[in-house]
Amino acid sequence: MADKLSKYKSMRSEKNTPEPFTSKKIDKKKLYFVVQKHAATALHYDFRLEVGGVMPSWAVPKGPTLDNKVKRLAMATEDHPLDYRSFEGTIPEGNYGAGKVIIWDEGTYIAEIQEKDGTRIAINNKKEAEKVMEAGIKKGEIKFFLNGKKLKGSFALVKTHGFGGKNAWLLIKHKDEYVKEGWDAKDFVQSEVSGKTIEEI
Ligand code: MN
Repeated sequence: MADKLSKYKSMRSEKNTPEPFTSKKIDKKKLYFVVQKHAATALHYDFRLEVGGVMPSWAVPKGPTLDNKVKRLAMATEDHPLDYRSFEGTIPEGNYGAGKVIIWDEGTYIAEIQEKDGTRIAINNKKEAEKVMEAGIKKGEIKFFLNGKKLKGSFALVKTHGFGGKNAWLLIKHKDEYVKEGWDAKDFVQSEVSGKTIEEI
C-alpha cells in the first residue's frame, strides 16, 4: 500500500491539504469507482477505479460520455487512496491540484473480459477481477461495467501507445443498452453526493 501511494504522497502535503492519505477498505466484496469533477488550472474529470486497494486514475479533459461514437482522451495520473473517492471540497492554493472538487459520479464496477467473438464476460469474483484489471492496466487495455448514477454500462480504457504521449489512453463506451447519442458530461453539473455544482462548493 505504502509503495503504491508513494507518488501520490510525494506530490501533496498532509498538513496543507484536506485530501485523504489512507485507504480504508469498506465493502470487501465490491469494487468502487468515482468520477470527480476538478476545477484545477484546467477543468477536467478524474476517473478512478478501485484495483488492489488503491485507485488507478485518469484525468479526462472532456469527461466520460455515454455516446459510443465518441472517444475521450484520458491521461493516466498517479494512483489515489481508496478513501479519496469520498473527497469533495477545495484543495487550497499553493498545493498540487489546487481548486474545487465535486463527486460527479460514483458507484461500483464489474471487470469484464472480451472473448474473440466480441462477447463480454463479467468477472464477479473480486480477487480475480483485480488480477484481470492489474494485468490489463499493464498491457494498456481494460474493460468494465459501471453501476453509477450518471454512468452506466460497459466501457473500455485503451492506451494509445503513442498518440497524445506515453500516459494517453482513450475512454470508450461500448455499444449496449445504456448508449445515449450526444450525451455530454458538461450538461450534467451536479454532485451526486451534495447536489452542488462545482461553483457552489
Ligand atoms: Mn484532478
